[in-house]
Amino acid sequence: MNEKSNLSQAPIVLVRFDDPEKKPLLYACGKCGQIHSPRIYACNDTLAHEAARRAAEDCYTCRTHNTCQHCGAQCEKGWLACDKCRRSSSFEKAKEVPLDGVEECFGFDGGEFYRSPQDAAEDGEDWVYLCTFRHYSVDLERLEQDILDDHHDDASIHDLKAFDALVTAVKAFNEAQTSGSFDEDRTRRARVSHLRDEEDHSHPDPRD
Ligand SMILES: [Zn+2]
Ligand SMILES: [Zn+2]
Repeated sequence: MNEKSNLSQAPIVLVRFDDPEKKPLLYACGKCGQIHSPRIYACNDTLAHEAARRAAEDCYTCRTHNTCQHCGAQCEKGWLACDKCRRSSSFEKAKEVPLDGVEECFGFDGGEFYRSPQDAAEDGEDWVYLCTFRHYSVDLERLEQDILDDHHDDASIHDLKAFDALVTAVKAFNEAQTSGSFDEDRTRRARVSHLRDEEDHSHPDPRD
């Protein structure tokens, strides 16, 4: 039920105690007292006061939920869109690709990492995001900053001895790495739901 007309919820208008004109300065939520200042709005005074009063009326702190900006459904505070609209927007943003050769992947809905699309399907995912792989590596620029930071203002790479040797060593080190991490690639998705229905031949009977 809408109780906006209820007096206890009307915004509190703060004025200077000694101002005979009682010119409004700030607005506060009638329920929780959260203060809204017109000064944070970059527009003319009248509009800024209107905006601050409206913010006090429709107090964000007192709100239990947000309204999805796409479909108008209730959604969690801190989000501009509901789960359903966020899902469909992520879905549209990702391009569908074939599952051929896909191994490691992330569940589209749960975000879990899986070693195989089969695992994702068995866990209830209909779609997976593909992965990109990132090897362990030393970032030369960061290393350079690390060496020079905390030194005098004119500290420069030219002060360093044997820096070329370090660069060569770092390059060799980076090229030698074979492990690292899988990152979710939110631009590509593949369907896995059909794997759930297929008969599972991948796990032989342990009694064999
Ligand atoms: Zn409030
Ligand atoms: Zn929505």
